[in-house]
This record gives sequence, C-alpha cells and structure tokens, in this order.
Amino acid sequence: MSLRFEIGDTKDSARRGTLLTPHGPVETPVFMPVGTQATVKGIPQDILEELDVQILLGNTYHLYLRPGIDQVRNLGGLHRFMSWPRAILTDSGGFQVFSLSELRKVTEEGVTFRSHLDGSAHFLSPETATAAQIGLGADVIMAFDECTEYPADASRVRASMEMTLRWAERSKRYFEEHKRKVPWGSAQHSALSGQLNCRSLDSPNQPASGLVACARDDKATGNWQLTTGNCTQALFGIVQGGMDIALRKESAERTIQIDFDGYAIGGLSVGEPRALTREVVESTLEHLPKDKPRYLMGVGTPEEIVEYSKLGFDMMDCVLPTRAARHGLLFTSEGKVSIKQARYAADSGPLDANCTCRVCQRYSRAYLRHLYSANEVLAQVLNTIHNLSFYLDTMRRVRHSI
Ligand SMILES: [Zn+2]
Repeated sequence: MSLRFEIGDTKDSARRGTLLTPHGPVETPVFMPVGTQATVKGIPQDILEELDVQILLGNTYHLYLRPGIDQVRNLGGLHRFMSWPRAILTDSGGFQVFSLSELRKVTEEGVTFRSHLDGSAHFLSPETATAAQIGLGADVIMAFDECTEYPADASRVRASMEMTLRWAERSKRYFEEHKRKVPWGSAQHSALSGQLNCRSLDSPNQPASGLVACARDDKATGNWQLTTGNCTQALFGIVQGGMDIALRKESAERTIQIDFDGYAIGGLSVGEPRALTREVVESTLEHLPKDKPRYLMGVGTPEEIVEYSKLGFDMMDCVLPTRAARHGLLFTSEGKVSIKQARYAADSGPLDANCTCRVCQRYSRAYLRHLYSANEVLAQVLNTIHNLSFYLDTMRRVRHSI
C-alpha cells in the first residue's frame, strides 16, 4: 500500500477523513506546516509532536541544493535525517525553481537554473525531480509541473498546461519504475524510533522493497495495528490552467486520466485577486474525484483554510503562519496582533486568552513584545509555536464541525 484515504463524516461539500500513510495516520482536512529545510524554522520536532502535527511539508528544491539528495538518502531518508517519525509530503521543486532561482531556462526536457545559494548550474525535469523525491522518501510526493505566471495570455496558458500534462505523464512513468527505491526499512531506521510504522520484513538491512509492515487502523477497536503489504510512496498530480476555467476543467480531466493517488490544484495565489482565486478553485474542485485526497497548494489565511475545508479540500499548506510569526504577526481568536506595537509594552495578559498553547499559558504580551523588540531568537520560536497552534486548532474545530 502507499496511501489509503478513508472518508468518514460529510457535511454539505466538506468531508472528514483519514489519510493512512506509511508513517501513520493524518486526520483531514489538514493544514500542513512548511518545513522548508528539513525544519519548521525555530521549532524542535518534539514540540511539533506536542502540537499534534501529523504531516509536514518539505521543499525538494532546498534539500536538493543543500544538503543534497544523496546525503539525505544515505542517512536513511528525510524522516530519519530530521528524526520525524510521522508523515511528510514533498513538493516537486517546480514552484520554487520558478520563484527563487535565477537564469532559469524552461524547455520540453525540463528546467535549467542557477542555485540561489552559490550560482551553480542545475537541471530539474520530471524524472530528476521524481528521483529526488524518491531519494528524500516523503510519504506523498508531487508530479513536476510548470507554475504558469499571472497574468499570461491564452496561448501561453494553454501551452504551459499542455507541458505540465506531458510532465505529469513522465513523472508518473518514472515513479512507477523506481518507487521501490524509497530509503525506508533499514535496521537502523527501525532502531531509531519505535514509532516508525514501516519495516522491511524480507531483508531488514536493505531499504524496504516489496513486503513491509504498515500501520493500519482497526475499525472495531480504534487501535492502530501492524499489517503487511507493499509499502511505498504516493504520487499526486497537479492541475494547472491559469485562471481559465475551461482549461482548468480540461487539465483536471486529463490529469485524472493519468491516474494519481491524489490531486492538487497548483498555480494559484500568484498575484491574482482573491475573488478570482476562489472562483477558479471552486470550479476546478468539481472536476476532481471525490474518493481521492484533494490538496489546495499554498493556501492560506485562517479564514481561507476554513473556507476551503468547507468546500471539500482535504489538504492545505502555507508559509503564512510560520513566516508571519517571525515578523511578529500573530493570529488570535480576536484577530491579528502585531506584537511589535508599543501598546503591548505593559500588557500583562496572554497573547490569546482562548488559546491553550504553551506560549499563551505561560507568557504575557509584554514579554513577547520585549523579545521581539530586542530581536531575541526566542521571539521567533514562541511566536511560531503560537501561530502553528492557532492554525492546527482552527483545523481541529473544522474537523469536529463536520
Ligand atoms: Zn497560543
């Protein structure tokens, strides 16, 4: 098995479910914190577990450049490297090549680009991006796509969508031929943490290939039990098509024909007005299969993650809670708080009286404001813990309301 998606309760178009990954269950709809460089900036993994993060997002582009895919693979894969026993999703690197790198050149074959770190030349294609993601070993990996820029004229959007479809086929073909090379299941891997759910049964010293043990839930008892089966990664396809509703429909239908384990909507929040994002998202969602996980990439604000969960999305990710935290922008039950403001200098109350996170339980607004003003590392740590906690609580409430 690679991924099983079980849908439980539904309410209107929203659904509550469980993604059963080789590294444990993920309750959906889920918000996935972004751990770009194999870390959610400033937050140790044990605190992420305490916050009940069940799945993290890693960025292939960054890990490919540093420390390098072979380095991570030789250390047992991303889970083991960063000591994270729960589920991970990696992006394909496509979006970041388009947004971060210099001197990129896109051809049918792939993208040549220069590293934003040292200017060195690199090449990512559907095959090399998929190979990189197999080497990292995330539970869910993404097809390599081209993120169409906004605005773009009709012929450009069509050509970009067609190339993304050809790249999706190549990603899928490469994945099917190489997915057994995922770096799980070595003896050291199992020894690292008793919580890891995948172990090779046929050859414990080799990366898992073929028969491995995977956790599965027992409906009768509600417990997670080990079962045996083929345990490997899942590959998701990405729907593109710019802001053109008809092209989005066509992209969805043709991506579904290629047959992926789940489907994502990409190429949004690239500068278009919010109302247009919503319109494209809503119309595209109608064309995605109901029995597969549906992932909206790069969204959003607390209001948006609630709104899109209600529409029927199962997975979302965004750098907003973590990035905003590092800039002193905090999300609370009473709205946004910019902690740098002088009005909080003598405020002895908690950041959010309705929040049960360890920051709100212990520290005052005055102290958080002081840490931020003094540019202390702890400001970033505490702010990020609270914002993540707020996002995760928001999604927990959404799940309970379904
Ligand atoms: Zn809090």
